[in-house]
Amino acid sequence: MRLHQLTIHEARDRLTSGEFSAVELSEALLERILAVDNDVKAYLTLTPEEALAQAHAADRLLGSSQERPGSLVGIPLAVKDVLCTQGIRTTAGSRVLDNFVPPYDATVVARLKAAGAVILGKTNTDEFAMGSSTENSAFFTTRNPWDLDRVPGGSSGGSAAAVAAAECLGALGTDTGGSVRQPAGFCGVVGFKPSYGRVSRYGLIAFASSLDQVGVLTRDVTDAALLLEVIAGHDPRDSTSIGLPVPEYAASLTGDLRGVRVGVPREYFVAGMQSKVEEAVRAAVDVLADLGAEVHEIGLPHTEYALSVYYLIAPAEASANLARYDGVRYGLRVEGESLREMYTTTRGQGFGPEVKRRIMLGTYALSAGYYDAYYLKAQQVRTLIKADFDVAFEKVDVVVGPTTPSTAFRIGEKSGDPLQMYLSDVFTLSMNLAGICGLSLPCGFDDAGLPIGLQVMGPAWGEEQALRTAYAYEQATEWHTQRPVL
Ligand code: GLN
Repeated sequence: MRLHQLTIHEARDRLTSGEFSAVELSEALLERILAVDNDVKAYLTLTPEEALAQAHAADRLLGSSQERPGSLVGIPLAVKDVLCTQGIRTTAGSRVLDNFVPPYDATVVARLKAAGAVILGKTNTDEFAMGSSTENSAFFTTRNPWDLDRVPGGSSGGSAAAVAAAECLGALGTDTGGSVRQPAGFCGVVGFKPSYGRVSRYGLIAFASSLDQVGVLTRDVTDAALLLEVIAGHDPRDSTSIGLPVPEYAASLTGDLRGVRVGVPREYFVAGMQSKVEEAVRAAVDVLADLGAEVHEIGLPHTEYALSVYYLIAPAEASANLARYDGVRYGLRVEGESLREMYTTTRGQGFGPEVKRRIMLGTYALSAGYYDAYYLKAQQVRTLIKADFDVAFEKVDVVVGPTTPSTAFRIGEKSGDPLQMYLSDVFTLSMNLAGICGLSLPCGFDDAGLPIGLQVMGPAWGEEQALRTAYAYEQATEWHTQRPVL
Protein backbone atom coordinates (compact mmCIF):
# COMPACT_ATOMS: atom_id res chain seq x y z
CA MET A 1 0.00 0.00 0.00
CA ARG A 2 1.25 3.48 -0.87
CA LEU A 3 1.97 5.78 2.04
CA HIS A 4 -0.72 8.33 1.20
CA GLN A 5 -3.38 5.63 1.37
CA LEU A 6 -2.68 4.64 4.97
CA THR A 7 -5.13 5.32 7.76
CA ILE A 8 -3.94 7.35 10.73
CA HIS A 9 -3.69 4.30 12.96
CA GLU A 10 -1.74 2.31 10.35
CA ALA A 11 0.64 5.21 9.74
CA ARG A 12 1.09 5.71 13.47
CA ASP A 13 2.08 2.06 14.02
CA ARG A 14 4.53 2.11 11.13
CA LEU A 15 6.07 5.41 12.13
CA THR A 16 6.64 4.06 15.62
CA SER A 17 8.21 0.87 14.33
CA GLY A 18 10.51 2.96 12.13
CA GLU A 19 9.28 1.54 8.83
CA PHE A 20 9.42 5.04 7.34
CA SER A 21 10.03 8.54 8.66
CA ALA A 22 7.56 11.35 9.22
CA VAL A 23 9.37 13.34 6.53
CA GLU A 24 8.92 10.49 4.04
CA LEU A 25 5.25 10.27 4.93
CA SER A 26 4.66 14.01 4.53
CA GLU A 27 6.61 14.09 1.28
CA ALA A 28 4.42 11.27 -0.04
CA LEU A 29 1.31 13.27 0.79
CA LEU A 30 2.66 16.48 -0.75
CA GLU A 31 3.46 14.53 -3.94
CA ARG A 32 -0.02 13.10 -3.95
CA ILE A 33 -1.48 16.59 -3.63
CA LEU A 34 0.64 17.77 -6.57
CA ALA A 35 -0.59 14.80 -8.59
CA VAL A 36 -4.32 15.08 -7.99
CA ASP A 37 -5.29 18.44 -6.52
CA ASN A 38 -5.42 20.17 -9.90
CA ASP A 39 -8.45 17.97 -10.53
CA VAL A 40 -9.95 17.73 -7.04
CA LYS A 41 -9.20 21.29 -5.85
CA ALA A 42 -9.55 20.43 -2.19
CA TYR A 43 -6.99 22.91 -0.85
CA LEU A 44 -7.22 26.68 -0.71
CA THR A 45 -3.76 27.09 0.80
CA LEU A 46 -0.87 24.65 0.99
CA THR A 47 1.81 24.90 3.65
CA PRO A 48 4.56 22.53 2.48
CA GLU A 49 7.42 24.32 4.26
CA GLU A 50 5.69 24.39 7.63
CA ALA A 51 4.58 20.79 7.09
CA LEU A 52 8.11 19.56 6.43
CA ALA A 53 9.45 21.47 9.43
CA GLN A 54 6.77 19.82 11.60
CA ALA A 55 7.65 16.42 10.07
CA HIS A 56 11.34 16.93 10.90
CA ALA A 57 10.37 17.79 14.48
CA ALA A 58 8.21 14.64 14.57
CA ASP A 59 11.16 12.53 13.45
CA ARG A 60 13.30 13.99 16.21
CA LEU A 61 10.60 13.07 18.76
CA LEU A 62 10.17 9.59 17.32
CA GLY A 63 13.93 9.03 17.55
CA SER A 64 14.30 10.36 21.07
CA SER A 65 14.26 8.06 24.05
CA GLN A 66 13.58 10.88 26.55
CA GLU A 67 10.34 12.30 25.20
CA ARG A 68 7.10 10.45 24.69
CA PRO A 69 5.73 11.54 21.33
CA GLY A 70 2.12 12.78 21.13
CA SER A 71 -0.56 10.52 19.73
CA LEU A 72 -0.52 12.11 16.26
CA VAL A 73 3.20 12.52 15.88
CA GLY A 74 4.12 12.85 12.20
CA ILE A 75 0.53 12.39 10.94
CA PRO A 76 -0.25 14.68 7.96
CA LEU A 77 -3.65 16.34 8.30
CA ALA A 78 -5.67 19.12 6.70
CA VAL A 79 -7.71 21.87 8.33
CA LYS A 80 -10.86 23.52 7.01
CA ASP A 81 -10.27 27.16 6.23
CA VAL A 82 -12.70 28.46 8.82
CA LEU A 83 -10.30 27.52 11.62
CA CYS A 84 -7.66 30.08 12.50
CA THR A 85 -4.05 29.11 11.91
CA GLN A 86 -1.36 31.38 13.29
CA GLY A 87 0.64 33.05 10.53
CA ILE A 88 -1.27 31.18 7.81
CA ARG A 89 -3.94 32.78 5.66
CA THR A 90 -7.45 31.87 6.81
CA THR A 91 -10.20 32.95 4.42
CA ALA A 92 -13.44 31.20 5.48
CA GLY A 93 -13.92 30.84 1.72
CA SER A 94 -14.68 34.57 1.52
CA ARG A 95 -13.26 37.58 -0.33
CA VAL A 96 -13.79 39.56 2.83
CA LEU A 97 -11.01 37.53 4.49
CA ASP A 98 -8.92 36.92 1.37
CA ASN A 99 -5.76 38.26 3.00
CA PHE A 100 -6.53 37.57 6.65
CA VAL A 101 -3.61 36.06 8.57
CA PRO A 102 -4.67 35.17 12.12
CA PRO A 103 -2.33 36.01 14.97
CA TYR A 104 -3.26 32.83 16.86
CA ASP A 105 -4.25 29.19 16.39
CA ALA A 106 -7.76 27.87 17.01
CA THR A 107 -7.69 25.63 20.09
CA VAL A 108 -8.30 22.55 17.93
CA VAL A 109 -5.34 23.43 15.71
CA ALA A 110 -3.13 24.05 18.75
CA ARG A 111 -4.18 20.64 20.09
CA LEU A 112 -3.33 18.88 16.82
CA LYS A 113 0.08 20.54 16.85
CA ALA A 114 0.66 19.65 20.49
CA ALA A 115 -0.10 16.01 19.62
CA GLY A 116 2.62 16.20 16.97
CA ALA A 117 0.49 16.38 13.82
CA VAL A 118 1.78 17.82 10.55
CA ILE A 119 -0.55 20.34 8.91
CA LEU A 120 -0.47 20.20 5.12
CA GLY A 121 -2.78 23.12 4.42
CA LYS A 122 -6.22 24.68 4.55
CA THR A 123 -9.17 23.18 2.73
CA ASN A 124 -11.90 24.76 0.67
CA THR A 125 -15.29 25.58 2.15
CA ASP A 126 -18.52 27.31 1.24
CA GLU A 127 -18.23 30.97 2.20
CA PHE A 128 -18.47 31.17 6.01
CA ALA A 129 -19.54 27.50 5.92
CA MET A 130 -22.89 28.44 4.38
CA GLY A 131 -23.70 25.78 1.84
CA SER A 132 -23.82 22.10 0.99
CA SER A 133 -21.55 21.83 -2.05
CA THR A 134 -18.51 24.21 -1.80
CA GLU A 135 -20.03 26.04 -4.77
CA ASN A 136 -20.45 29.03 -2.44
CA SER A 137 -16.68 29.30 -1.97
CA ALA A 138 -15.53 32.68 -3.30
CA PHE A 139 -12.52 30.95 -4.86
CA PHE A 140 -13.51 27.73 -6.66
CA THR A 141 -15.63 24.61 -6.35
CA THR A 142 -14.06 21.44 -5.01
CA ARG A 143 -14.82 18.27 -6.98
CA ASN A 144 -16.00 14.92 -5.74
CA PRO A 145 -13.12 12.41 -6.10
CA TRP A 146 -15.64 9.71 -7.09
CA ASP A 147 -16.91 11.77 -10.03
CA LEU A 148 -15.23 15.06 -10.83
CA ASP A 149 -18.44 16.48 -12.33
CA ARG A 150 -20.16 16.23 -8.97
CA VAL A 151 -19.96 18.24 -5.76
CA PRO A 152 -18.13 16.84 -2.73
CA GLY A 153 -20.87 18.17 -0.46
CA GLY A 154 -20.28 21.01 1.93
CA SER A 155 -19.48 23.09 3.59
CA SER A 156 -16.45 20.97 4.64
CA GLY A 157 -16.22 19.69 1.04
CA GLY A 158 -12.51 20.44 0.76
CA SER A 159 -11.73 18.37 3.86
CA ALA A 160 -13.95 15.46 2.79
CA ALA A 161 -12.53 15.42 -0.74
CA ALA A 162 -8.96 15.64 0.56
CA VAL A 163 -9.52 12.61 2.80
CA ALA A 164 -11.29 10.63 0.05
CA ALA A 165 -8.61 11.47 -2.53
CA ALA A 166 -5.80 10.52 -0.11
CA GLU A 167 -4.46 14.08 -0.03
CA CYS A 168 -4.17 13.89 3.78
CA LEU A 169 -4.77 11.12 6.32
CA GLY A 170 -7.52 12.99 8.13
CA ALA A 171 -8.97 16.47 8.40
CA LEU A 172 -10.88 18.88 10.57
CA GLY A 173 -14.22 20.24 9.43
CA THR A 174 -17.04 22.13 11.05
CA ASP A 175 -20.71 21.25 11.24
CA THR A 176 -23.49 23.76 11.85
CA GLY A 177 -26.27 21.86 10.12
CA GLY A 178 -24.51 18.91 8.52
CA SER A 179 -21.29 20.27 7.07
CA VAL A 180 -19.10 17.42 8.32
CA ARG A 181 -21.55 14.54 7.88
CA GLN A 182 -23.08 15.48 4.53
CA PRO A 183 -19.74 15.81 2.67
CA ALA A 184 -18.47 12.67 4.43
CA GLY A 185 -21.52 10.87 3.05
CA PHE A 186 -20.99 12.26 -0.46
CA CYS A 187 -17.28 11.40 -0.48
CA GLY A 188 -17.47 7.95 1.15
CA VAL A 189 -15.48 8.77 4.28
CA VAL A 190 -16.24 8.95 8.00
CA GLY A 191 -17.37 12.32 9.37
CA PHE A 192 -18.10 12.89 13.05
CA LYS A 193 -19.89 15.89 14.54
CA PRO A 194 -19.46 15.77 18.34
CA SER A 195 -22.05 16.98 20.83
CA TYR A 196 -22.33 20.77 21.13
CA GLY A 197 -19.73 21.77 23.71
CA ARG A 198 -17.53 18.69 23.38
CA VAL A 199 -14.94 20.56 21.32
CA SER A 200 -13.76 24.13 21.72
CA ARG A 201 -14.94 26.70 19.19
CA TYR A 202 -12.19 29.17 20.10
CA GLY A 203 -10.60 30.34 16.85
CA LEU A 204 -13.42 28.97 14.72
CA ILE A 205 -14.75 31.75 12.49
CA ALA A 206 -18.33 31.89 13.74
CA PHE A 207 -21.33 31.13 11.54
CA ALA A 208 -24.13 30.27 14.00
CA SER A 209 -22.69 30.09 17.48
CA SER A 210 -25.37 27.93 19.11
CA LEU A 211 -25.01 25.30 16.37
CA ASP A 212 -21.35 25.36 15.25
CA GLN A 213 -19.17 22.45 16.27
CA VAL A 214 -15.77 21.28 15.06
CA GLY A 215 -15.69 17.72 13.75
CA VAL A 216 -13.34 15.24 12.10
CA LEU A 217 -13.16 13.56 8.69
CA THR A 218 -11.24 10.31 8.37
CA ARG A 219 -11.00 7.11 6.36
CA ASP A 220 -12.31 4.88 9.16
CA VAL A 221 -14.01 4.97 12.54
CA THR A 222 -10.85 4.19 14.51
CA ASP A 223 -9.21 7.30 13.07
CA ALA A 224 -12.26 9.39 13.94
CA ALA A 225 -11.98 8.20 17.56
CA LEU A 226 -8.25 9.03 17.63
CA LEU A 227 -8.67 12.54 16.25
CA LEU A 228 -11.67 13.30 18.41
CA GLU A 229 -9.74 12.30 21.51
CA VAL A 230 -7.10 14.91 20.67
CA ILE A 231 -9.42 17.84 19.94
CA ALA A 232 -12.12 17.22 22.57
CA GLY A 233 -12.19 18.62 26.07
CA HIS A 234 -12.76 21.75 28.06
CA ASP A 235 -11.18 25.00 26.96
CA PRO A 236 -11.24 28.00 29.29
CA ARG A 237 -11.41 30.19 26.16
CA ASP A 238 -14.80 28.78 25.12
CA SER A 239 -17.42 29.12 27.83
CA THR A 240 -19.70 26.67 25.99
CA SER A 241 -17.13 23.87 26.10
CA ILE A 242 -18.03 21.26 28.69
CA GLY A 243 -15.90 20.45 31.72
CA LEU A 244 -16.44 16.67 31.45
CA PRO A 245 -13.41 14.40 31.16
CA VAL A 246 -12.69 13.11 27.64
CA PRO A 247 -13.16 9.34 27.43
CA GLU A 248 -10.64 7.16 25.64
CA TYR A 249 -12.78 6.93 22.55
CA ALA A 250 -10.70 4.23 20.90
CA ALA A 251 -11.47 1.96 23.87
CA SER A 252 -15.16 1.99 22.98
CA LEU A 253 -14.43 0.26 19.68
CA THR A 254 -15.14 -3.24 20.89
CA GLY A 255 -16.86 -4.64 17.81
CA ASP A 256 -19.60 -5.95 20.10
CA LEU A 257 -23.16 -4.75 19.61
CA ARG A 258 -24.98 -7.20 21.83
CA GLY A 259 -27.61 -5.42 23.88
CA VAL A 260 -27.17 -2.11 22.05
CA ARG A 261 -30.61 -0.60 21.34
CA VAL A 262 -30.82 0.99 17.90
CA GLY A 263 -33.69 3.32 17.03
CA VAL A 264 -34.76 3.79 13.41
CA PRO A 265 -36.92 6.91 13.00
CA ARG A 266 -39.90 6.61 10.65
CA GLU A 267 -39.53 10.27 9.70
CA TYR A 268 -36.11 9.63 8.14
CA PHE A 269 -37.51 7.67 5.21
CA VAL A 270 -39.43 10.19 3.17
CA ALA A 271 -41.05 10.37 -0.23
CA GLY A 272 -38.64 11.76 -2.78
CA MET A 273 -35.51 10.26 -1.33
CA GLN A 274 -33.31 8.21 -3.63
CA SER A 275 -34.51 4.59 -3.47
CA LYS A 276 -30.97 3.22 -3.46
CA VAL A 277 -30.19 5.31 -0.36
CA GLU A 278 -33.18 3.89 1.49
CA GLU A 279 -32.24 0.36 0.41
CA ALA A 280 -28.63 0.71 1.58
CA VAL A 281 -29.65 2.18 4.95
CA ARG A 282 -32.29 -0.53 5.56
CA ALA A 283 -29.69 -3.17 4.70
CA ALA A 284 -27.26 -1.55 7.15
CA VAL A 285 -29.88 -1.75 9.90
CA ASP A 286 -30.19 -5.49 9.14
CA VAL A 287 -26.42 -5.83 9.55
CA LEU A 288 -26.65 -4.15 12.96
CA ALA A 289 -29.42 -6.56 13.95
CA ASP A 290 -27.32 -9.52 12.77
CA LEU A 291 -24.52 -8.24 14.97
CA GLY A 292 -26.79 -8.50 18.01
CA ALA A 293 -28.28 -5.00 18.24
CA GLU A 294 -31.94 -4.67 19.24
CA VAL A 295 -33.69 -2.65 16.55
CA HIS A 296 -36.71 -0.48 17.42
CA GLU A 297 -38.80 1.73 15.20
CA ILE A 298 -39.06 5.16 16.80
CA GLY A 299 -40.74 8.50 16.12
CA LEU A 300 -39.12 11.93 15.99
CA PRO A 301 -42.39 13.74 15.31
CA HIS A 302 -41.02 17.29 14.96
CA THR A 303 -38.50 16.36 12.26
CA GLU A 304 -40.55 18.10 9.57
CA TYR A 305 -39.97 21.48 11.23
CA ALA A 306 -36.20 21.16 11.50
CA LEU A 307 -35.40 22.76 8.16
CA SER A 308 -37.56 25.85 8.79
CA VAL A 309 -36.28 26.21 12.34
CA TYR A 310 -32.68 25.92 11.24
CA TYR A 311 -33.12 28.47 8.45
CA LEU A 312 -34.41 31.01 10.95
CA ILE A 313 -31.94 30.40 13.78
CA ALA A 314 -28.77 29.92 11.71
CA PRO A 315 -29.21 33.07 9.59
CA ALA A 316 -30.28 35.07 12.68
CA GLU A 317 -27.06 34.16 14.46
CA ALA A 318 -25.05 34.64 11.26
CA SER A 319 -26.41 38.15 10.77
CA ALA A 320 -25.10 39.07 14.22
CA ASN A 321 -21.76 37.24 13.83
CA LEU A 322 -21.01 38.73 10.43
CA ALA A 323 -21.54 42.32 11.57
CA ARG A 324 -17.85 42.38 12.53
CA TYR A 325 -16.71 42.39 8.89
CA ASP A 326 -16.95 46.12 8.46
CA GLY A 327 -13.67 47.01 6.76
CA VAL A 328 -12.24 48.28 10.04
CA ARG A 329 -11.31 45.25 12.06
CA TYR A 330 -10.65 42.40 9.65
CA GLY A 331 -9.75 41.72 6.07
CA LEU A 332 -11.10 43.61 3.09
CA ARG A 333 -11.63 47.38 3.19
CA VAL A 334 -13.02 49.29 0.23
CA GLU A 335 -12.72 53.06 0.74
CA GLY A 336 -15.70 55.35 0.21
CA GLU A 337 -16.70 59.00 0.49
CA SER A 338 -18.01 58.45 4.01
CA LEU A 339 -17.72 55.88 6.77
CA ARG A 340 -21.12 54.54 5.85
CA GLU A 341 -20.15 54.15 2.23
CA MET A 342 -16.93 52.39 3.26
CA TYR A 343 -19.01 49.89 5.29
CA THR A 344 -21.51 49.24 2.54
CA THR A 345 -19.05 48.89 -0.32
CA THR A 346 -16.74 46.69 1.76
CA ARG A 347 -19.61 44.37 2.67
CA GLY A 348 -21.18 44.62 -0.77
CA GLN A 349 -17.98 43.54 -2.49
CA GLY A 350 -16.68 41.26 0.25
CA PHE A 351 -19.65 38.93 0.67
CA GLY A 352 -21.06 36.53 -1.93
CA PRO A 353 -24.77 36.09 -2.74
CA GLU A 354 -25.55 33.27 -0.28
CA VAL A 355 -23.95 35.11 2.63
CA LYS A 356 -25.91 38.25 1.75
CA ARG A 357 -29.11 36.20 1.57
CA ARG A 358 -28.46 34.79 5.05
CA ILE A 359 -27.68 38.20 6.52
CA MET A 360 -30.92 39.59 5.10
CA LEU A 361 -33.01 36.61 6.25
CA GLY A 362 -31.46 36.73 9.70
CA THR A 363 -31.79 40.47 10.11
CA TYR A 364 -35.44 40.22 9.10
CA ALA A 365 -36.14 37.35 11.51
CA LEU A 366 -34.64 39.36 14.38
CA SER A 367 -36.21 42.70 13.56
CA ALA A 368 -38.73 44.42 15.86
CA GLY A 369 -42.23 43.20 15.11
CA TYR A 370 -41.07 39.94 13.54
CA TYR A 371 -38.88 38.60 16.31
CA ASP A 372 -41.75 36.87 18.15
CA ALA A 373 -43.26 35.42 15.01
CA TYR A 374 -40.02 34.02 13.61
CA TYR A 375 -36.98 33.84 15.85
CA LEU A 376 -38.77 33.21 19.14
CA LYS A 377 -41.14 30.69 17.56
CA ALA A 378 -38.19 28.90 15.98
CA GLN A 379 -36.46 28.65 19.37
CA GLN A 380 -39.64 27.16 20.86
CA VAL A 381 -39.88 24.53 18.14
CA ARG A 382 -36.17 23.85 18.57
CA THR A 383 -36.98 22.83 22.15
CA LEU A 384 -39.57 20.36 20.82
CA ILE A 385 -37.04 18.88 18.39
CA LYS A 386 -34.61 18.40 21.25
CA ALA A 387 -37.38 16.86 23.37
CA ASP A 388 -38.03 14.30 20.58
CA PHE A 389 -34.46 13.08 21.00
CA ASP A 390 -34.65 13.14 24.80
CA VAL A 391 -37.66 10.82 24.61
CA ALA A 392 -35.99 8.60 22.00
CA PHE A 393 -32.78 8.23 24.00
CA GLU A 394 -34.74 6.95 26.99
CA LYS A 395 -35.57 3.91 24.88
CA VAL A 396 -32.54 3.50 22.62
CA ASP A 397 -28.77 4.01 22.80
CA VAL A 398 -28.28 5.24 19.24
CA VAL A 399 -30.47 6.40 16.37
CA VAL A 400 -29.63 5.28 12.84
CA GLY A 401 -30.78 6.66 9.48
CA PRO A 402 -29.54 8.06 6.18
CA THR A 403 -27.09 10.98 6.21
CA THR A 404 -28.65 12.58 3.13
CA PRO A 405 -31.71 11.93 0.94
CA SER A 406 -29.55 11.47 -2.17
CA THR A 407 -25.98 10.84 -3.23
CA ALA A 408 -23.70 13.61 -4.57
CA PHE A 409 -25.42 15.87 -7.10
CA ARG A 410 -23.87 17.45 -10.18
CA ILE A 411 -21.97 20.72 -10.00
CA GLY A 412 -24.46 23.44 -10.92
CA GLU A 413 -27.50 21.21 -10.41
CA LYS A 414 -28.76 23.00 -7.31
CA SER A 415 -26.74 26.20 -7.21
CA GLY A 416 -29.59 28.24 -8.71
CA ASP A 417 -32.16 26.97 -6.23
CA PRO A 418 -31.31 27.63 -2.58
CA LEU A 419 -34.27 25.60 -1.26
CA GLN A 420 -33.20 22.48 -3.13
CA MET A 421 -29.68 22.99 -1.78
CA TYR A 422 -30.99 23.43 1.79
CA LEU A 423 -32.92 20.15 1.47
CA SER A 424 -29.73 18.12 1.23
CA ASP A 425 -29.33 18.70 4.99
CA VAL A 426 -32.81 17.62 6.11
CA PHE A 427 -31.46 14.59 7.99
CA THR A 428 -28.50 16.30 9.63
CA LEU A 429 -29.84 19.65 10.89
CA SER A 430 -31.78 18.24 13.83
CA MET A 431 -28.65 17.03 15.62
CA ASN A 432 -27.23 20.54 15.66
CA LEU A 433 -30.53 21.98 16.86
CA ALA A 434 -30.65 19.36 19.63
CA GLY A 435 -26.93 19.59 20.49
CA ILE A 436 -26.42 15.84 20.14
CA CYS A 437 -23.66 13.97 18.27
CA GLY A 438 -23.77 12.19 14.95
CA LEU A 439 -21.46 10.56 12.46
CA SER A 440 -21.68 9.43 8.88
CA LEU A 441 -19.94 6.33 7.55
CA PRO A 442 -20.02 4.54 4.20
CA CYS A 443 -22.81 1.99 3.76
CA GLY A 444 -22.98 1.34 0.01
CA PHE A 445 -22.97 2.81 -3.47
CA ASP A 446 -25.73 3.87 -5.84
CA ASP A 447 -26.03 2.74 -9.46
CA ALA A 448 -23.67 5.51 -10.58
CA GLY A 449 -21.01 4.24 -8.17
CA LEU A 450 -21.42 7.14 -5.74
CA PRO A 451 -21.05 6.53 -2.00
CA ILE A 452 -24.03 6.41 0.38
CA GLY A 453 -23.74 7.54 4.00
CA LEU A 454 -25.22 5.91 7.09
CA GLN A 455 -25.84 8.30 9.95
CA VAL A 456 -25.38 7.10 13.52
CA MET A 457 -26.58 9.54 16.17
CA GLY A 458 -25.89 9.45 19.88
CA PRO A 459 -27.19 11.56 22.77
CA ALA A 460 -25.24 14.54 24.06
CA TRP A 461 -21.94 13.21 25.47
CA GLY A 462 -22.80 9.82 23.92
CA GLU A 463 -19.93 9.85 21.40
CA GLU A 464 -18.79 6.43 22.60
CA GLN A 465 -22.15 4.82 21.81
CA ALA A 466 -22.13 6.23 18.30
CA LEU A 467 -18.52 5.20 17.71
CA ARG A 468 -19.05 1.71 19.06
CA THR A 469 -22.04 1.12 16.79
CA ALA A 470 -20.33 2.57 13.73
CA TYR A 471 -17.17 0.56 14.33
CA ALA A 472 -19.01 -2.74 14.65
CA TYR A 473 -20.81 -2.02 11.37
CA GLU A 474 -17.58 -1.01 9.67
CA GLN A 475 -15.81 -4.17 10.78
CA ALA A 476 -18.63 -6.29 9.39
CA THR A 477 -18.64 -4.59 5.97
CA GLU A 478 -16.18 -3.63 3.26
CA TRP A 479 -17.55 -0.25 2.11
CA HIS A 480 -14.89 1.79 3.87
CA THR A 481 -12.11 -0.02 2.02
CA GLN A 482 -13.30 1.21 -1.40
CA ARG A 483 -11.33 4.14 -2.81
CA PRO A 484 -12.01 6.39 -5.80
CA VAL A 485 -9.73 5.98 -8.81
CA LEU A 486 -8.08 9.27 -9.73
N1 GLN B 1 -25.75 23.38 4.55
C1 GLN B 1 -26.14 24.01 5.77
C2 GLN B 1 -26.12 25.51 5.56
O1 GLN B 1 -25.94 25.91 4.47
C3 GLN B 1 -25.22 23.62 6.89
C4 GLN B 1 -23.89 24.23 6.77
C5 GLN B 1 -22.97 23.86 7.91
O2 GLN B 1 -23.17 22.87 8.60
N2 GLN B 1 -21.95 24.69 8.10
O3 GLN B 1 -26.29 26.26 6.44
